[in-house]
Amino acid sequence: PAALTADAERAYDLDRQHVFHSWSAQETLDPMVVTRAEGSYLWDGQGNRLLDFSSQLVYTNLGHQHPRIVAAIQEQAASLCTIAPSYANGTRSEAARLIASHTPGDLDRVFFTNGGADANEHAIRMARLHTGKHKVLSTYRSYHGGTQLAINVTGDPRRWPSDNGSTGTVHFFGPFLYRSPFAATTEEEECQRALAHLEQVVALEGASTIAAIILESIPGTAGIMMPPPGYLQGVRELCDRNGILLIADEVMAGFGRAGRWFAVEHGGVVPDLLTFAKGVNSGYVPLGGVAISEKVYRTFAQRAYPGGLTYSGHPLACAAAVATIETMEDEGIVERVDALGREVIEPELRALASRHPWIGEVRGTGAFWALELVRDRESREPLAPYGGSSPEMAAIVSGCMRRGLIPFANFNRIHVVPPLTITAEEAKEGLAILDEALAEAHGPA
Ligand code: PLP
Repeated sequence: PAALTADAERAYDLDRQHVFHSWSAQETLDPMVVTRAEGSYLWDGQGNRLLDFSSQLVYTNLGHQHPRIVAAIQEQAASLCTIAPSYANGTRSEAARLIASHTPGDLDRVFFTNGGADANEHAIRMARLHTGKHKVLSTYRSYHGGTQLAINVTGDPRRWPSDNGSTGTVHFFGPFLYRSPFAATTEEEECQRALAHLEQVVALEGASTIAAIILESIPGTAGIMMPPPGYLQGVRELCDRNGILLIADEVMAGFGRAGRWFAVEHGGVVPDLLTFAKGVNSGYVPLGGVAISEKVYRTFAQRAYPGGLTYSGHPLACAAAVATIETMEDEGIVERVDALGREVIEPELRALASRHPWIGEVRGTGAFWALELVRDRESREPLAPYGGSSPEMAAIVSGCMRRGLIPFANFNRIHVVPPLTITAEEAKEGLAILDEALAEAHGPA
């Protein structure tokens, strides 16, 4: 391989000396240096161009260096870089208006945070104060953020080292037909049994102790499992019957990723609180938030909400949100992604599944797809264990990288989550690389 440029080498060396990385044993890391990025591509420290099928951490929804977002940040920086949350500011007001114009139902008030974890923390705090109850229910196969409460609400193994049993969190099984916890064989059965299970969890935990059920409208990192028809409506109805608030975590699935402005639209329900981050401004400047329904808003109409952040509604982040949402509206991005999913990504992935015996299931929507990889289609044994990796998964990832594709891998899954602005040709180029990498890693049948 070519040598790193001098600048890239310096970036690498200083990183290794001084940067402490997330979720990692520090001395096992070998981070790729990125020197430049544009649209769906980025360039490494050796000058290689790579197609980004991960949208980084599933957030560069309009791709890298989108000129409208860059210009909006520059203009905002030139006029007013920052102003504290207590003031009214035109950019922040406009971002809130635009967000509220797309959230479902009466989710018309926006509390801004710095990202997704703190959005979930605040949504839960609002739910606890609104209901006067404490417990929060969430699914095992979920990710809700890295702060103390959010990581305990999270179901995936990143919770384990921080699980101290004091946060009032309870986990249950969400629907997942391919690995049904209920021995269901149809979507309908899975839906009914998952709802009956949740009903029992609520009864046994005590409805009078439960403030909220928080769900990713479509679980993201945990595997992109589309809820079966009727499931979200069933959860909504169960919440209403038991005085429990429904929080939809749209941090990954929202803002067009699932071919809708918000993924709850697939289920036709309106949550009491909806959290967002990532795609709201393509992640160009940190931003998240909670969209709040009228009834929760009323709780804090005359009583102070006990929470805040120095950077709540930061003008640079809000300027990026305004430009992102206006671009999505003007270019019909949501409709485009819905069509791209149905007409390009899904058929191409199904064709891959017909060629590669490791592909046990293809699922998803829009620009939000998962390949569930198995050793054997009969037994459905995962190609890597839950919470771990395997030589086969590592070979697929390195095969993609060597060919110029950045995949998103988690345990035994490869997710196809490119920028929403990816062209059909770029999507096909990336899927052809994935095809080759799968074939190489598997070897002759
Ligand atoms: N919720 C979901 C569904 C996510 O996917 C993530 C991040 O991946 C978060 C919350 C946490 O967001 P952040 O990393 O911005 O705190």
